[in-house]
Amino acid sequence: MTRTVYVNGEYLPETEAKVSIFDRGFLFADAVYEVTSVLDGKLIDFEGHAVRLKRSLDELEMAEPCNKDELLEIHRKLVELNGIEEGLVYLQVSRGSDGDRDFVFPPADTQPSLVLFTQNKPGLADSPAAQKGAKIISIDDIRWGRRDIKTVQLLYPSMGKMMAKKAGCDDAWLVEDGYVTEGTSNNAYFVKNGKIVTRPLSNDILHGITRKAVLRMAAEAQMEIEERLFTIDEAKKADEAFTTSASAFVMPVVEIDGVALGDGTPGPIAKRLREIYLDESRKAAI
Ligand code: PMP
Repeated sequence: MTRTVYVNGEYLPETEAKVSIFDRGFLFADAVYEVTSVLDGKLIDFEGHAVRLKRSLDELEMAEPCNKDELLEIHRKLVELNGIEEGLVYLQVSRGSDGDRDFVFPPADTQPSLVLFTQNKPGLADSPAAQKGAKIISIDDIRWGRRDIKTVQLLYPSMGKMMAKKAGCDDAWLVEDGYVTEGTSNNAYFVKNGKIVTRPLSNDILHGITRKAVLRMAAEAQMEIEERLFTIDEAKKADEAFTTSASAFVMPVVEIDGVALGDGTPGPIAKRLREIYLDESRKAAI
């Protein structure tokens, strides 16, 4: 099926949508993005994604392509036009282009490019991958120092996923100066003696929208949480582990660098948090 996508004010069939070859997103990875999940045809935590998008744009001195209400309308219209019940909405804003390639930013009044498209993912919530749990490897984190800004510089995370696949695993956790930063496209947690441990927020990791919601829900469920640096060895000795992201919600981790966690199946806290997150998110979806 041909999707309807959104490009700079127009809803078009995907085959007709165009962006300039001089677009700075294409030439310099000078662009930021958001991925919002859709359940029951409704957006999960749109507000969180809109706020983080604004922050990413501000940090890079990039103009806002439109206001929050307009963004919401575009998201909703694409979900409707494409008949998405379960899936994702991808949004990208680039600094646009003034028609040439130059390291210097184009004038501040240059129109940013705004592109959105949907991805239909039936079974996203009831995912067989989440029932099995993920096997991960650890790799060096060699990304840039502003991982709190959600830029489209995703080559290394993409290579990390490929390294994991080649090793017969599902994903990779990144390690810097001996400590786990996060997953290739998710935040990382382990659980020991009932306590959830995850790295605190800083410029070293993306401030996950799902992380924020899951930590709030865990606290409300009287679960113990500790935000601190942790090593991959600690995680390997954990009772269980998991990741969070808008596209996979709470994903249990069952193996790290070949070491099975617990009995090698998804742990009770990860499973419980996935249930709570899906349940609460569905209720609050717009
Ligand atoms: N860290 C990284 C590096 C990511 O790419 C993502 C997902 N885009 C996350 C964490 C999770 O963030 P969110 O919960 O907002 O999807």
